[in-house]
Amino acid sequence: MEIIHVSAECYPVAKAGGLGDVVGALPKYQNELGHIAKVVMPMYKTKFLMNNAWDVVHKGRTNIGDYWFDYTIIKEQTNKLGFDLYLVDINGLLDREKVYGYDDDTERFAAFQVSVVDWISVWAHKPDVIHVHDHHTGLIPFIIKHCYKYQHLHDIPTVLTIHNAQYQGAMGWDKSYLLPPWDSWKWGMLDWKGAINPLASGIKCAWKVTTVSKSYLEEMRQSSNGLEDLFEYERGKCSGILNGIDVDVWDPATDSYLEDHFSVETVAEGKSRSKKKLCDTFSLDIHKPLIVFIGRLVGEKGADILPAAISDSFYYIGRKMNFLILGSGFPEVEAQLSALQRLAQNDYNVYVGYNEALSHLMYAGADFLLMPSRVEPCGLNQMYSMRYGTVPMVRRTGGLRDTVVDYGEENGYGIVYNWAAIGDITQGIWRAVDLYSDEEKMAEIRGRMMQLDFSWQSSVQQYISLYQDLQYKEEPVAKSLPE
Ligand code: ADP
Repeated sequence: MEIIHVSAECYPVAKAGGLGDVVGALPKYQNELGHIAKVVMPMYKTKFLMNNAWDVVHKGRTNIGDYWFDYTIIKEQTNKLGFDLYLVDINGLLDREKVYGYDDDTERFAAFQVSVVDWISVWAHKPDVIHVHDHHTGLIPFIIKHCYKYQHLHDIPTVLTIHNAQYQGAMGWDKSYLLPPWDSWKWGMLDWKGAINPLASGIKCAWKVTTVSKSYLEEMRQSSNGLEDLFEYERGKCSGILNGIDVDVWDPATDSYLEDHFSVETVAEGKSRSKKKLCDTFSLDIHKPLIVFIGRLVGEKGADILPAAISDSFYYIGRKMNFLILGSGFPEVEAQLSALQRLAQNDYNVYVGYNEALSHLMYAGADFLLMPSRVEPCGLNQMYSMRYGTVPMVRRTGGLRDTVVDYGEENGYGIVYNWAAIGDITQGIWRAVDLYSDEEKMAEIRGRMMQLDFSWQSSVQQYISLYQDLQYKEEPVAKSLPE
């Protein structure tokens, strides 16, 4: 089967979060099963772009409204990621350093989507599936179904995967000109609550919709930033498929970011060497448990309550643990976390920014990983941490609920609490300190976690079955009645 993934992110080309990790791994494992999975994404100005060789495979010209532009499709020459990687270059719009965060993101991703469809429309054949990811590519199912110019593509099955429904890309109806001329009777397929909503449109128009965990799908019927009724209405075509992790990249025995590798047999020594590096670099006390947080410093991740939870823990539990935070996001949260450094007694530090290498060292060297998320569609951090023998401390929500079992339960291995609330987090930290003092139990839990299987194997198979169910069967041609 030929599967075209269209995405704003793909690791290691450009990544802002879990979406990048998933799109960088899923196609590789689909190819390993004998399919032809390809990725198409915007050509940002990234290191990956500069450090690799590219072929130009197509040049086209199209428009969003009155704005006509040339686009170029380039392809990475060596297939080094395990799949064909195509980048869409649109001068001035996509060739920037960051993935998101520009005032004209709406126009950028509209132009990207139109270019992708325009390119596919000149292929001599049709792919078996177009698989789009999140709102940045959510208009594609509508474009191929209802834009006159691309009518010949309307029978290509489309799948939308929702990695995060908080962000929907909504725009006013005054931006409808960004789409190629479309059948205006179908305006309802773009609209949600009076605006053009690319994520809602994707949910309405894609043949199938998946979310990145089963629990997240259930939760979205209750709370999904305004889309609750739509998820309820479209429940028949929605399913939850848990993300896997790329076990080639995330393996403590071979991780290219680590100097001290370890396996389940050598975890104690391996982790303590990485912990020492962290403690030396960030002035932390190696004898105390090291609790880390890695992620976007936003409300979704519960980052806004981290400063209070950390100070409360020091106050109520005592200075019995270290904290190390890696992340960036809301400036006020960054400022509060940085301000806490003044109170540190070799037991707290923060690195504000994005640092892939440091994140790997933290998964390897930490004892516990804190995830007090309010919303967590799947969450990859907890799976990485378990593979590196680091106990996840998670709020019971979304994919965290589906992947972490509290160590108090039979065969459990994590610390799970119910609410993204300061009291719950502090209590979780108290349990972590307690658990850390029991070396035997810690070793047993580490061993158990590291042997869990979070690979892509079963999820990839579920995606393939989903695509196979969609394969277009040609409508029988009505035969004329015998005379
Ligand atoms: P989300 O996509 O919602 O941000 P996920 O748990 O799905 O969350 O994925 C987060 C990914 O981004 C993980 O690979 C994590 O290690 C990485 N990450 C997040 N913030 C940072 C950071 N500041 N530095 C390095 N890696 C980060």
